[in-house]
Amino acid sequence: MSKQKKSSLQEKKGVSISEITNRSSIKSIQNKRKVKIDTVALVSSILKKDITALSRAITLVESKNPKHKEQANNVLKACLPHANKSIRIGITGVPGVGKSTFIETFGKHLTKLGKRVAVLAIDPSSTITKGSILGDKTRMEDLVKDKNAFIRPSASGDSLGGVARKTRESIILCEAAGFDVIIIETVGVGQSETTVHSMVDFFLLLKLAGAGDELQGIKRGIIEMADTIAINKADGGNLKNAKLAKVEFARALHLYPEKSSNWQPKVTLCSALHSEGINTIWDIILEYIEITSKNNFFDKKRHNQNKFWLIQTIEDQLKSDFFNKPKIKKELANQIQLIENNQTTPFAAADYLLNLNN
Ligand code: GDP
Repeated sequence: MSKQKKSSLQEKKGVSISEITNRSSIKSIQNKRKVKIDTVALVSSILKKDITALSRAITLVESKNPKHKEQANNVLKACLPHANKSIRIGITGVPGVGKSTFIETFGKHLTKLGKRVAVLAIDPSSTITKGSILGDKTRMEDLVKDKNAFIRPSASGDSLGGVARKTRESIILCEAAGFDVIIIETVGVGQSETTVHSMVDFFLLLKLAGAGDELQGIKRGIIEMADTIAINKADGGNLKNAKLAKVEFARALHLYPEKSSNWQPKVTLCSALHSEGINTIWDIILEYIEITSKNNFFDKKRHNQNKFWLIQTIEDQLKSDFFNKPKIKKELANQIQLIENNQTTPFAAADYLLNLNN
């Protein structure tokens, strides 16, 4: 369109160029303000325990859109002073052990005690299956209807680190929304148990009684992480085996050196289906909190977890920034080719790529 035509059109509409410029800048200010107001409104609603606002904030945290990331960071910053007041419990166990049945029963037990319970999940496999198998609302039908409970399926992400970061940030949001107990569920895929362990106060391992070889096939390290082992499905014809398993696990736990928390991990029986042994587990958790609060381990652990996540987040970010650079992507392929042709070593190639990045 020629300049003349454009200005005559504007004249007809009675709008000048400067007015258009003014309008667009007003619009941009309004947009900026809108985001600002939204953030403030969102935080204020979260603090008023508004579940819809909490869900929206978690969706922001999970978003890959850079604009959302900025807003999510603002929301998190504003929520942080109101966080940290919950008990964070990690729950793990093989598929079928009864995690969701347990969380439903345990969650209901807590809401009856007047607690507000949030259930989050870390499920790295949901990245592959594109759906979440954990924290699935249909698996906790009663709890999901409870107004004092909030259930959020696992975030999806490119990596366990990505999923973990989102869950960690969601913990802050749930705490700001006044949840007293945050349950993080995971299944033993890859490093997911270690990841959950690094963000909770208390780690509960659910086990099944087997045929007397309970310790066979158990992942190394998992016993060391557990603050309590609960043998689930201790009911009906299974009760006898469960009691035997309890003895075996208790014996095994005594072989481990004492923890710096001064906490001696416990083994207990429960039936999530029949709601048996559930109050005992809650009592154990309260005892743990009391002991570790008195000897300062509780605060020290959270402090160390924060330090760990700071370093972890920086490492993840640096790594993804590096590998996402087009120059690096291209040269990485070249260097791999050179390594395959024995024309360079992996170390020289790494030096070359890292220098290229500087
Ligand atoms: P998850 O895969 O670990 O979440 O396990 P689920 O909670 O889905 O439970 C798997 C199956 O075990 C379901 O059919 C449950 O009804 C059953 N189950 C869970 N807890 C108990 C229990 O305490 N006793 C018995 N007998 N069955 C249970």
